[in-house]
Amino acid sequence: MGRQVRVHEVYAGRVVQGAGALALVPDELDRLGARRVLVVAAPSSAAAARELTQALGERHAATFGRPVQHTPVEVTARALEAAREARADALVAIGGGSAIGLAKALAIRTGMPQVAVPTTYAGSEATPVLGETEHGVKTTRRDPALAPGTVVYDPELTLSMPHGLTLTSALNALAHAVEALWDEQASAATRAYAVEAADGVLTALPLVLDDLSDVGARARLQEAAWLAGACLAQARMGLHHQLAHALGGTYGLPHAELHALLLAHVLRYDLPAAPDAAARLTRVAGGDPVAAVAALAARHAGPTTLGALGLPRTALREVAERVAAAPYPNPRPVVADEVEELLLGAW
Ligand code: NAD
Repeated sequence: MGRQVRVHEVYAGRVVQGAGALALVPDELDRLGARRVLVVAAPSSAAAARELTQALGERHAATFGRPVQHTPVEVTARALEAAREARADALVAIGGGSAIGLAKALAIRTGMPQVAVPTTYAGSEATPVLGETEHGVKTTRRDPALAPGTVVYDPELTLSMPHGLTLTSALNALAHAVEALWDEQASAATRAYAVEAADGVLTALPLVLDDLSDVGARARLQEAAWLAGACLAQARMGLHHQLAHALGGTYGLPHAELHALLLAHVLRYDLPAAPDAAARLTRVAGGDPVAAVAALAARHAGPTTLGALGLPRTALREVAERVAAAPYPNPRPVVADEVEELLLGAW
């Protein structure tokens, strides 16, 4: 029998969690010895950023308010300039994966410590990974120095997420957990995270969709997203993430919406070849996990098919061949004809 060694690494060193936790960010910066803080904030987080800068007082050095998806290097250069002019010595990112990605890009270039305050369920704050774009080409790097040392989860900051973003972002998180469950090299701890994350999304998301202002359900969903982000950091992602990246990168389709509409199709493809993951997901879903995920995805008022997102039918073959040629682990062999079938179902 071949050697089966598993490695488990944890990235966010410190996680602070709970309604109102935003108010504790200045204390976290004190622990880091920060004296001049650059706040990186998505426009949707402007109010939270103002609350934070007021609390920081003189320690607030500057705010950079225009992060962009997929971390274009020219935006990073402008933010770096702002950090230098402000003589910043620490970073706080408030927002979704785009704001957190920009802070990671600044941290790796300057060595500044970072506090991440996520406002979506994308999970970037839990990973040592950064995707950057230059001249339209996206490259991804992995380095423990990219991971924010401190993460502050405040569910109140997720209350402003509209129905569509809530749904697609939560299914994006669920996809990290699902793929960790069928990665044969995932550690016992990662599997435990993945089960708890899947349970959290499947239990809390329907409650949140019924009442977007339910802070208790939002807190459970955010907790699930944290663990799902840790799964993304620790496990190897398979066909689902390959498809999302191929479609997002080449055809410019939106990150979270792609994850949301693909997940049930990939589950249908892969689960028969992943009996252990299927058993765990069936337990947390209380029935057929494919049906549970499809029912959630169908609650999206926006596009629920690749065709509705604007993907031409002719792209399906090209994407299927590309993901079949790429090397990555997946429970079921990735065969171009079969993936084209899967994509046709999603189209
Ligand atoms: P995002 O950060 O681009 O946010 C999407 C939109 O939602 C933005 O307009 C944003 O302003 C808005 N928004 C964010 N939080 C909100 C809130 N609470 N209320 C209302 N509006 C809000 O999207 P995302 O899905 O969080 O992140 C996607 C980006 O992150 C992509 O670039 C992706 O590649 C990257 N990402 C990286 C990793 C990693 O590990 N490196 C993991 C996940 C995602």
